[in-house]
Amino acid sequence: MSEQTIFAKIIRKEIPAAIVYENERILAFKDIAPQAPTHILVIPKKALADVAAAKEDDAALLGELLLSAAHIAKEQGLTDYRIVINNGAEAGQTVFHLHLHLLGGRPMRWPPG
Ligand code: AMP
Repeated sequence: MSEQTIFAKIIRKEIPAAIVYENERILAFKDIAPQAPTHILVIPKKALADVAAAKEDDAALLGELLLSAAHIAKEQGLTDYRIVINNGAEAGQTVFHLHLHLLGGRPMRWPPG
């Protein structure tokens, strides 16, 4: 059976999203509830629940996720930005398809909540 997360449906174009970048392996789209002036989600098209589910075979894909985020940040005119991956419910993960948050356009505080 195909993956049923909301992001899988976005990958399959079953539901709309504001897509900002796409290639054969990666999709990036605007977060529906932005936490910063720029808030983009960068996801692999491969069904991986979280970063912990990635295997050695996925090393290139994980690298491409980060490089894609940097490319998109530049395209969006960002020089300073934060990249976040929530792994697991207690860490704040709500959608169990691996995704990287690219946040920018405002000062960021540390530590995160
Ligand atoms: P996380 O809490 O790390 O799992 O992040 C999931 C993110 O997905 C949240 O920031 C949500 O606002 C975002 N989100 C959920 N549904 C959609 C959607 N249909 N389109 C865009 N972003 C979404």
